[in-house]
Order: sequence, then structure tokens, then C-alpha cells
Amino acid sequence: MRCQAQTKAAARCSRPALRGSKRCVMHTEGRAREIGRKGGLRRRVFNPENLSPLETPRTAEDLTIFVAMTMTEVRLARIDPRIANALSQLGGIFLRGLELGELAKRVATLEANRRGEEGNENESSKQD
Ligand SMILES: [Zn+2]
Repeated sequence: MRCQAQTKAAARCSRPALRGSKRCVMHTEGRAREIGRKGGLRRRVFNPENLSPLETPRTAEDLTIFVAMTMTEVRLARIDPRIANALSQLGGIFLRGLELGELAKRVATLEANRRGEEGNENESSKQD
């Protein structure tokens, strides 16, 4: 059954009525206010002004501090757990990027050392 209430635009509400009622969830006394309050609560949790100021992490050590602060903020309900989930995924990608960058540096050093050794071998074989 469709909701019997009229919208502000004087049209009939198109939402389905609740079971055993002639009205939908938004047109049931108290429900709209409750849903609005929940939305307000969520917005308060999302408010970035409640978060501790923090520099962009650049190292694994920075990320560790960032994660620790985020854990505290989740516990204090200053940050939505869904945002914390997204941050933890991004943190994983960030760490992987650091690891790959570190690996690339080590490989470049090894290759440079090897080229140096090969150069020395060639020079010493010329002298023989
Ligand atoms: Zn309705």
C-alpha cells in the first residue's frame, strides 16, 4: 500500500506505507526526527574540526603514528569507523609503495656495484 500522506509540494507521497500503517517511515510521527537526528550524529562524527591536526605521513614511522592517532579517534567516536577502514586500506597501499621504493633503491645500488666490479675486471684483464 502507498503512503496516504501529502508531501510539501501537495502531491501524494510515493513511498510504501509501513506494515499495519497508512503512512510511510518518513510520515510516521517521530520517525523523520529520529532519522534526522541520526544524520546529525553522523555529520558530527564526520566533522574534521574534531580531528587532531596531522602532517601527511611520509615514512613508515609517520604512518605508525597516524594509525595510532586514528585508533584513538575511532574509540573517541571522532571519526567514523568506515573512514578508518578506508584509511587502513590506503595505509596498506602506502606501505607497499614504500617497500617497492626501498627495493628499487637496493636493486639500483646492487646494479651500480656490479657495473663497477665488471669495469674493474675489464681494466685488470687489459693490464695482464
Ligand atoms: Zn509518506
